[in-house]
Amino acid sequence: MKIFISADIEGVSTTSEWSECTSGNHLYNVNALQMTKEVLACCEGAIEAGATEIVVKDAHAGANNIDITMLPDCVKVNRKWSGHPYSMVDTLDKSFDALMFIGYHSAASQGFNPLSHTMSSKNIFYIKINDEIASEFTINSYTGALENVPSVFLTGDLGLCEYSASMNPRHPNLTTVATKEGKGASTTNYSPNWVLSQIKEKSKQALQVDFKKSVLELPKKFKVEICYKEHTQAFKMSFFPNVKLINDNTLLFESNDYFEVLRVLKFVL
Ligand SMILES: [Zn+2]
Repeated sequence: MKIFISADIEGVSTTSEWSECTSGNHLYNVNALQMTKEVLACCEGAIEAGATEIVVKDAHAGANNIDITMLPDCVKVNRKWSGHPYSMVDTLDKSFDALMFIGYHSAASQGFNPLSHTMSSKNIFYIKINDEIASEFTINSYTGALENVPSVFLTGDLGLCEYSASMNPRHPNLTTVATKEGKGASTTNYSPNWVLSQIKEKSKQALQVDFKKSVLELPKKFKVEICYKEHTQAFKMSFFPNVKLINDNTLLFESNDYFEVLRVLKFVL
């Protein structure tokens, strides 16, 4: 069994604010180590369930956060950014059996995590796909569907876990582990060690059910709204091919082809 894990940091159990997610801050090393440990716990659960090959995408900031020396022999890590539109799931392809997400966070405009954002922490007020707020989990799980790989496991803030689970039955076999709860600019963080044991146990369980038929169904049509915090940014990006400005802050893009959605997102965020 071959597993792909995409890992971020704003949804791991130790983070609460932007500065400590950035290399150089006095708490960054604590958080990067917890990100590594949460990825490791997921790998251990997957291996116990029968995984023999795992690829991890380090998908936060410079994509060089995970200490790869701590991971098992069957794990490869994709570090830094190639520039491919698959972005946080770069190198995912049809050879994988399942897709898992560690340290993910609520979407831009959602109040469940002070670190809520979607792809860009600076520019984006929200992204909607087919009239629903799209998180990075939404965007990347659709990429999984494009490669016929089911998204089976998700960890991050409680709001993200509940919002993503509410998208059932589109994710009929999604198992989640919440790491913390956000309120305003604050977070109540769960015990990091308890979170690790939950991740190991639940990632294993997620792979012990018959998940193969639970690939997310790709919509026939994608209507993508990108609302920027600054109208100046919306105006500038409106010159990208095939997008239109629908109000001072918002672009609309429509396509039947999800790869085209990813191509637009790669350039206009
Ligand atoms: Zn991040």
